[in-house]
Amino acid sequence: MRRFFVERIEADADGLCVISGSEARHILKVLRMTKGDRFILMDGTGDRYDSIVEAVEGSSVRVKLVSPLKAPTLPDFQITLCQAVIKPSPMDYLIEKTSELGVTRIRPFVSERSVVKINDESASNKLRRWREIAISAAKQSDRNTPAEMLQPTTFAEILKDLKTTDCLKVILWEKEDSKDLKAILRTSDPGIQFIGIVGPEGGFSAEEVKAAIGAGCIPVSLGKRILRAETAAITLAAIAQYEWGDLSIRSNH
Ligand code: SAH
Repeated sequence: MRRFFVERIEADADGLCVISGSEARHILKVLRMTKGDRFILMDGTGDRYDSIVEAVEGSSVRVKLVSPLKAPTLPDFQITLCQAVIKPSPMDYLIEKTSELGVTRIRPFVSERSVVKINDESASNKLRRWREIAISAAKQSDRNTPAEMLQPTTFAEILKDLKTTDCLKVILWEKEDSKDLKAILRTSDPGIQFIGIVGPEGGFSAEEVKAAIGAGCIPVSLGKRILRAETAAITLAAIAQYEWGDLSIRSNH
């Protein structure tokens, strides 16, 4: 059955919900669905409904929520990617690819050497775009819920939160010369959550890496080649899934 995502499913008293924007365009213009067609409507919180097209109103679709479906269980293994905001096109690519690889959430941040600076307005525009990318990646890769895109923040704020988060936390640092990701994952007990931090185009300063260590993060190398930030993030997601996650057919999520 076709699946569509809205940010939040909000039904009126009659159990009807209006879909607009790009999902409505997809339903009406691409798939040419009409009254009586069924699909599954999902939202970012994990709510899912068996739904049916009730009426087409201009560029919006009014749907009847027929019955709630069992919420998907969260995957056994969650990956949080704390990612420095990079230039728009590679950032979009990074979100799409790490979403396909099943990253649970992405928390963007701005750090000392970030090339891209953001203000409140650009942050909300970017967030809207990133959420759309995560949603279409979820649809195309058959994920139950899209990667959660969190509000962009500062590196300091990320570290403050990580200090009190108890799981394996790594910061990718190209200057690290003793520990690599493979060894860390293979010698640690697989936990239910893994957090990886990837820097901006300009990389992290030594002070930032020191602060991350202070917050309990382990600096790790991905080898001697310097990767672009988006390549590093995608590699991190793939390696974490390969070692601890679901890059296998045994998994049921
Ligand atoms: N500007 C820096 C490189 C930044 S690469 C320089 O030219 O030296 C962007 C980000 O990708 C880095 O902050 C780091 O998090 C990650 N990265 C790239 N290559 C890496 C490697 N070999 N090992 C670990 N992290 C890497």
